[in-house]
Amino acid sequence: MTVDVAANLRAVEARIDRAARRVGREPEEVLLVAVSKAVDVERIRQALAAGVRAVGENRVQEAKAKIAHLGRPVPWHLVGTLQTNKVREAVRLFDLIHSVDRLELARELDRRAQAEGKVIDALVQVNVAGEETKAGFAPDELKPALEAVGALPGLRVLGLMTMPPPVEDPEAARPWFRQLRELRDQAGLTHLSMGMTGEFEVAVEEGATMVRVGTAIFGPRPPRSRQGGEPLSD
Ligand SMILES: *Cc1c(COP(=O)(O)O)cnc(C)c1O
Repeated sequence: MTVDVAANLRAVEARIDRAARRVGREPEEVLLVAVSKAVDVERIRQALAAGVRAVGENRVQEAKAKIAHLGRPVPWHLVGTLQTNKVREAVRLFDLIHSVDRLELARELDRRAQAEGKVIDALVQVNVAGEETKAGFAPDELKPALEAVGALPGLRVLGLMTMPPPVEDPEAARPWFRQLRELRDQAGLTHLSMGMTGEFEVAVEEGATMVRVGTAIFGPRPPRSRQGGEPLSD
């Protein structure tokens, strides 16, 4: 299948622009993270050549292989569930971890970052709808979780991330995005990672500072990585 990555990218950027302007935001406030899981390096190279400013992956080993090919012309973000036994590698590979979804993981990131002599930037994942199958802190667990994570010197928490329940109508995701923004404001944090192919414009209208878009840029993924709509992890 031929996919014009550059044209797709421009179309997504134009949609982000319009969504931002509708609510009086500057488009530059929104970082488009091109989610390239299950996408081959050639297609990622096209996205980089077309000006993508951050790349998102959800599997440590897959990202490692791609980074070996492509280097780091832009930051690499981890957007999927991170297994504790992959933390050491993740700390070396990624510039931002979007998915700090449990205290055990935060502590391991802290430990491994300190061992590397660095501070790893992170977002804390919130399970806004309290879905049983989904990772992240429940909204009412968030305050103590942020206090605990905030005390870890190897981790710098920049904001919150969420994956709301799948919706057919993008408007249906709006309350979840709004809730995440309110939680972010209460916590006094900066970043809001929310919005994927199906609803990133609504997320931008609700204050997203990072949208994670895969399909709209790279085309549909092979079935392997779409099962249940959940991110895969290693
Ligand atoms: C796959 C994935 C995305 C991108 O999904 P699309 O619907 O293809 O845009 C965003 N965030 C996470 C965590 C993902 O796993």
